Amino acid sequence: MKITAIFFSVTLMKNILKKLFKVLLFCAQSAPNRFTFLPWQTMSLSGLLAIFLFSAMPLAAWSEHALGVYPALEASQRIASLKEASVEELSVFLIRNEKQLEKLLAEEEDWARNHLEHYPPLPESLRFTATGEKATIVARFARAVRIHPGLMLSLYVQADPRTGCKNRPVLPVKQTVFQDNSSFKNIEFCRLTPGEKIHPIVITATAADEPDHGLDIGLFEDNNTPHGSQYAFGPQPFGDPRLEYSSQAPFHMGFYHESPIVYAAAPFLKQTYPEYRIRLYRQLGIFALKNGHPYWGYRFLGWGLHYLTDLTQPYHATVLPGVSTLKMLWINFLAILGFPAAKDNAVNLVSNRHTAIEELQGRLLRAELKTNQADSPLVRAFADLAADTVYPAYSDSYPRETIAREANERAKQADRLLVKALPEKYTSDPAFDYTPEAKEQILPDTRLFNPAGFTELNQYFVILFQSFGAHTRKYMESALQQAQIPVS
Ligand SMILES: [Zn+2]
Repeated sequence: MKITAIFFSVTLMKNILKKLFKVLLFCAQSAPNRFTFLPWQTMSLSGLLAIFLFSAMPLAAWSEHALGVYPALEASQRIASLKEASVEELSVFLIRNEKQLEKLLAEEEDWARNHLEHYPPLPESLRFTATGEKATIVARFARAVRIHPGLMLSLYVQADPRTGCKNRPVLPVKQTVFQDNSSFKNIEFCRLTPGEKIHPIVITATAADEPDHGLDIGLFEDNNTPHGSQYAFGPQPFGDPRLEYSSQAPFHMGFYHESPIVYAAAPFLKQTYPEYRIRLYRQLGIFALKNGHPYWGYRFLGWGLHYLTDLTQPYHATVLPGVSTLKMLWINFLAILGFPAAKDNAVNLVSNRHTAIEELQGRLLRAELKTNQADSPLVRAFADLAADTVYPAYSDSYPRETIAREANERAKQADRLLVKALPEKYTSDPAFDYTPEAKEQILPDTRLFNPAGFTELNQYFVILFQSFGAHTRKYMESALQQAQIPVS
């Protein structure tokens, strides 16, 4: 009897909540018709989410992916023992494999159309066709994989802070398509020359940061770029299309595990493309490895790895961490009624916390690697092999079903620990602005503010970094196996 009563009361509660959602959604979606007097009254849930995502988004999921990829790959005996690869220009790799690449890219286009629900097909005019023209081959390839045509794709190393460039010449900082390169000022880029031998770990770790240097900038039709008007990705689904760096967000975030009511109100959240990038670059990497071009094999694998590890960041796999669906609907409802403060606050806070986690992670890791602290728990976490056997074998569904699901489940806890550990202004003041000076101060301020909270946050970083390391190795080792690279 008791069980039946509990069952009925749970069912009743569920029905009440469902009805409440429906009423709120109805009010939200029909607001323009029902309240026509003031502009803010046209705000729907979709509007709330769009505005959240219109805010000034942080640039990356993790600052400098290479910082984590170096220790993660060094821990794999299989990868550490790989032979060095000979550095090669992209045009050489492409021209020597032009006919086979035409076939591979056509197959990948078919795969994307058949497997990715919201994939915008490649226009026929951009398809990669073997013409034998070396002078145009890089541009033709860039169009076929729909990347920013202005990124130089030069031959370089993103130095491990533990070693620096050693005897290689240091390049000027500008290796990106951005006007403002201040986020890259602490990184040392080193020049490579064709024919030089280099270890696959260095190639992969370097390439794993490259998609944050501009590969996905300006690809949408409203980004006001020549390539954006050709690539057929349509208007930017979220983020501010006028802000240069915000246009990469739909390629670097994956909102796969939101509640159905959120998708119903904001279907554009499904227009995210990390799976397209991961699959395409992984296949290109395997192809290059199989065909005797290891430098481009590891570089393409590094590109795919970037998007894969972006999804380990809870703020990249969850729309509004720490804000329940019910709360989202409630603050939206308040906005419709004319009280937009709660909505504006939620938007700014989530954006600020996203920046906070990135800034802390990057600064902590860089400091520990720079001083070569071999016993740093944060650095050791990337190399921890214990989690590798916990996860399933790598497959095309792994990024969504294993990585993004895990990060999404962690979002609430990550948000809670951030709020606890940081001085209030960094996470809980909606008016706070992350100026360059504020970013410089975040780590010293946090160390002093609440040592116990800081320790707890560090312990949580250890968990996140263990997953980053394990997923990195699973992706790379499975690709080596598929490419039939012998164990040396
Ligand atoms: Zn990214």
